[in-house]
Amino acid sequence: MPRILIAGYQHETNTFAPSLADWAAFTRGDSFPAFVCGHALVEQLASINIPVAGFIEFARRRGWTLLPSCWAGAIPSSYVTRESFERIAQTICDDARAAGTLDGIYLDLHGAAVAEHVDDTEGELIARLRAIVGPGVPIVASLDLHANVTQAMLREADALVSYRTYPHVDMARTGERAAELMDRRLNAGRKEPMAAQRLPFLIPLNAQSTWMAPAQGLYEALEALDRQHDTVLSFCMGFPASDFEECAPMVWGHGERAEAAVAELARLTGEPTQWRLEILSAREAVAQAMALAEGADKPVVIADTQDNPGAGGDSNTTGLLHALLAQGAGRRYPGQVALGLMFDPAAARAACEAGVGATLELALGTAVPTFTGQPSDAPVRGRFKVVAVSDGRCTLTGPMMNGLTVKLGASACLEIDGVRVAVVSGKKQLLDRQLLRMVGLHTEQQRIVVVKSSNHFRADFQPHASHVLVAKAAGPMAADPADLPWRKLPAAIRRRP
Ligand SMILES: [Zn+2]
Repeated sequence: MPRILIAGYQHETNTFAPSLADWAAFTRGDSFPAFVCGHALVEQLASINIPVAGFIEFARRRGWTLLPSCWAGAIPSSYVTRESFERIAQTICDDARAAGTLDGIYLDLHGAAVAEHVDDTEGELIARLRAIVGPGVPIVASLDLHANVTQAMLREADALVSYRTYPHVDMARTGERAAELMDRRLNAGRKEPMAAQRLPFLIPLNAQSTWMAPAQGLYEALEALDRQHDTVLSFCMGFPASDFEECAPMVWGHGERAEAAVAELARLTGEPTQWRLEILSAREAVAQAMALAEGADKPVVIADTQDNPGAGGDSNTTGLLHALLAQGAGRRYPGQVALGLMFDPAAARAACEAGVGATLELALGTAVPTFTGQPSDAPVRGRFKVVAVSDGRCTLTGPMMNGLTVKLGASACLEIDGVRVAVVSGKKQLLDRQLLRMVGLHTEQQRIVVVKSSNHFRADFQPHASHVLVAKAAGPMAADPADLPWRKLPAAIRRRP
């Protein structure tokens, strides 16, 4: 039976964001599982909807022997520190050296992790492992749909495969697909033919949702091409806030007819104007939401996309909250306007200490540096009523990270002028309604819900929303990649309109 080493390394690096991914970020276990090694990896991660779980499940069915190394993941932010990357890479490399004869290595990677000292950390990790195991041992990796896939990754790995959904509801399925590729590779006894094509432009995150055109139809086309050509194709739309040379979308595939299939998929995805997208200002979004909420039987959801902690924001800006208060949204619909998650540990702790029913004088939120050179909006100062408190432990039930328990520390629901804010002490993208229920906020009872998320919220919120609006309040994650002060991106991409 094949002996396969398995490991994971997940970070999405927004090189323009304010906070680094230091070692603490990989060990906290706040919004990603905490760093875990050895058999505990299998015990703790096998039941969560993440890629390694899908790989483990396939391996169990086949009776493969798994050698678990480590799994390291941290919430998206700026650069992975040198210390963190070296520690993770060394753990995996040491385990590969100590494993004896191996038949394969599976890596659960994100694919857009940039370290302080290495631009392409996944390419670097795979190359280091390749140097240890030699050319004959297959290395297969699964990738996030936001991977910025590099030539080194494609060259050093035997096969790569990425998610096909955004929100990422197919993470475990992608790990299973990686296992299928490993199986194909083991049976073939050699690396399958591979073809790849980079797209010469960047795609804004908000245009990437596979719940709408054009991405929805493009992934259907990808699956049809796979059936037609017996290939395993991937299309990474890329993470358009990682300032390095190979930041871009990539189409690639494995199989005897990969070249023809990739050429067709690149033709379909490579038409740039199909990715155009309209984004509202905070003021416009609130005005529209207040009007739409009037006759609606479900809440209007507004995505506060430029403070998405799933893309490098710190989930603490106040532009949308100011806009709600300025336009009297909470006076029109008292207690039926909600916003979350606001990362403000001091406010959350104060609320928990004061208790439900208390009133606190607070400055909520933070003015953070943004890509425009101007800071984001000032904190919201005023009297907040404590409506509910929680210890911040919450098991997610939505389709995306179903089964994961997050620990966000002291948390509370605070109300000001009729607007309710879910305040937390740990950073987590609002992608699951359970994160609001934790502090007593039920979306069924809301008219307007502001979510600090770009797209992942859609999986659990959109089916329960009357309308979804996307708003651009001042924050660290540029909704339009053209707004970012790129330095390393090739001029050919930078200069495109
Ligand atoms: Zn992603």
